[in-house]
Amino acid sequence: MSQLTITVLGGLGEIGMNCMALETPNEMIIIDCGVLFSDLDAFGVNFAIPRFEEILKRSEKLKAFICTHGHEDHIGAIPFAVKKGLKAPIYGSPFTAALVEDRLAKYGIENHAVVNSFKPGETLSFGDFKVQTIPVNHSIVDATALSIETPIGKIIHTGDFKIDPDPHYGKPMDLDLFKKYGDQGVLLLMSDSTNVERVSDGGSDIDVYQSFEQFFAQAQGLTLISMFASNMGRMGQIFELAHRMNKKVVLSGRTIEKNVTLAEDIGYLEYANQVVIPEGELNRFKRDDVVVVATGSQGEYRSALARIANGDYKNIQLQQGDQVLMSSRHIPGNEKAISRVINKLFQRGAHVYYGGLDKIHVSGHAHRPELEKMLKAVRPQYFIPVHGEYRHLILHSELAVETGVSPENCTIAMTGDVV
Ligand SMILES: [Zn+2]
Repeated sequence: MSQLTITVLGGLGEIGMNCMALETPNEMIIIDCGVLFSDLDAFGVNFAIPRFEEILKRSEKLKAFICTHGHEDHIGAIPFAVKKGLKAPIYGSPFTAALVEDRLAKYGIENHAVVNSFKPGETLSFGDFKVQTIPVNHSIVDATALSIETPIGKIIHTGDFKIDPDPHYGKPMDLDLFKKYGDQGVLLLMSDSTNVERVSDGGSDIDVYQSFEQFFAQAQGLTLISMFASNMGRMGQIFELAHRMNKKVVLSGRTIEKNVTLAEDIGYLEYANQVVIPEGELNRFKRDDVVVVATGSQGEYRSALARIANGDYKNIQLQQGDQVLMSSRHIPGNEKAISRVINKLFQRGAHVYYGGLDKIHVSGHAHRPELEKMLKAVRPQYFIPVHGEYRHLILHSELAVETGVSPENCTIAMTGDVV
């Protein structure tokens, strides 16, 4: 009889460290391999990685790592898996693959693993597993869901996703494709649970674009935007607006500069050449016409934003009338550090915009109404909520039951569990 085993190595019951192994008697694939960033509860620990011991016993069966997208909580543990002896080619979309290669190089092991890039939409075959990659919207370019044919039936893993009707940069995801799979019959859906508590509409990237446009137009001084360094979709929006409105962009922070280069190399960010100026040239332009994009949205104390707030960043000094847009969510646990930075930015004379009122950020994760759309499109026989703390998993499986999945077919699995 055919059999499929799912070993949850991380990401269920916690947000971060996403990693699971899918295994038949013949083959194994690993979906995502991320880190979990530590909070103040684990003093002195920077991040955690999955425990690979259990699957290392059967590592000869491993055919591939498949990364759904390039966020650290999905790729950050790849170098550690490789070092521990999990040897298999690593697959990701072009931007994901570029970030994985960069991580491997950071640990000096770029020659120890083969990284292959796929075009989202492409199908990959690994013996018992046939994996179709499906482009989805998320807060990073090139994010994918996976439709996996296995000997016991089809599995859909959404990866991190949102359904954005107008992402402005990139295409809206194709929910009809998920409906088509639903028509054919899906055995199991594993879906992103992060924002199941949010009952409101998730909002679209176009809202942020339009908001930025207003802020750029009203600038009476420097505009400083802080955001996650990997959000190249938002970066694309900023570059496009800057190009259209004759603004110049300064990139502040090493990671942001490196990510822009990686994204440019694979054909994203077409206006980068025309709008980006070196930090040292900022004073050659009228302040109203300069947009600085900086890392440090979580209040990290050595980040560009924190140093600008402290007044000890050589090339960028804030003045009365400058505006700061905090374009990212505040990760729980970071509130104190973020407030400190916001207060200091105000002390420098800038006006700081943050929180939901000004539409300068929308989440990259589906809110409850979108999660419901996904469930209703796929109509799975079985459901395992993923990417969430315990309460998110429970709420998401309740939602699945509301859409018609029978309660005994919803499984709450946690990190360490085998299904
Ligand atoms: Zn993500």
